[in-house]
Amino acid sequence: MTSGFTPPPDAASGVDLTGRTALVTGAGSGIGRACAQAFAAAGAYVHVVDVDAESAKGVAEEIGGRAHVVDLARADLVAELPTDVDILVNNAGLQHVAPLAEFPPERFDLIQRVMVQAPFLLIRQSLPHMTARGWGRIVNVSSVHGLRASAFKAGYVTAKHALEGLSKVAALEGAPHGVTSNCVNPGYVRTPLVERQIAAQAAAHGIEPDEVVTEVMLGRSAIKRMIAPEEVAGVALWLCGPHTGYISGASVPVDGGWTAA
Ligand code: NAD
Repeated sequence: MTSGFTPPPDAASGVDLTGRTALVTGAGSGIGRACAQAFAAAGAYVHVVDVDAESAKGVAEEIGGRAHVVDLARADLVAELPTDVDILVNNAGLQHVAPLAEFPPERFDLIQRVMVQAPFLLIRQSLPHMTARGWGRIVNVSSVHGLRASAFKAGYVTAKHALEGLSKVAALEGAPHGVTSNCVNPGYVRTPLVERQIAAQAAAHGIEPDEVVTEVMLGRSAIKRMIAPEEVAGVALWLCGPHTGYISGASVPVDGGWTAA
C-alpha cells in the first residue's frame, strides 16, 4: 500500500520504504510527526497513533496514512493497534518537572505506562510479524536522558533508562530474524513538549524563563541551538535504510556533543 504522499525535493534520503508499513506513536506532534512525514516521504504506509484526535487525523490526512486515536497508557487499547508493521517507532512521551520529594506518584506511573509499558507491548505484539518476514526495524525515541540524568525529572529519566534496556533486549532477540532495535537520543528539540516545560523548569531551578533555554536546556550542549524535529526523524529514517543493518542495540546521540563532555 502506498502512502500517496508526494515527497518534497529535499527528501532524497536514499532510503526506499516502498511496500513497508510503519507505526509511529505520538505522531500528531513534534518528533513523531516529523518521523511520520519522513517515513511516508520514503514510501512507507504510516499508522499515525496519538491520543490527540485532531492532530492524529491531520497528520494522517497530510501523508496518506491512517489515524489511530489511542491513549497509550491503556494496555487494552494498545492491544487493538495493528500488529502487521515492519517498522515501529516508539516515540510518544510526556514530561513532568518536579523535585523528587514532591513528584506526584500518579504522574510517575503515567509516564512509565506511556513511555515504557506501551513500547514493551507494541514490540511484543509487532515482533511476530517482523520475524515472519525476516525484516523489521524498531526505533525507540529515547533521549539524552536515557543516558544521563537531570534533576527534577525522576519520571522521565527513569522511563528513558528503562526504554534503553528494552531496546537492547529487542535487539538481541530480533537479531536472528533480521530485526534491529535502536534508540535515538536527542538533546533539546524545539517541540511543544519543550515549550511547555520552560515555565516549570524556571520554577524548579529558581531562574527566569528566558534563562531556561540558555542555562538549562543548552547549558550542557556544545552546539548552542535546539534541534529541529526533522533532524531526529532523519536519524530514525537512516536506521531503517540500506546502510544500517548492522547497527542494533545502539543508542545514537543527536545531542550536539552533550554526552561527549
Ligand atoms: P510533543 O509533545 O510535541 O509530542 C508528543 C506526542 O505524544 C503528542 O502528540 C502527544 O499527544 C502524544 N502523547 C502523549 N501522551 C500520549 C498518550 N498517552 N497516548 C498517545 N499519545 C500520547 O513531544 P516531542 O518533543 O515531539 O516528544 C516526542 C518524543 O521525543 C518523546 O518520547 C520525548 O521524550 C522525546 N524527546 C523529546 C525531546 C525534546 O527536547 N523535545 C528530547 C529528547 C527526547
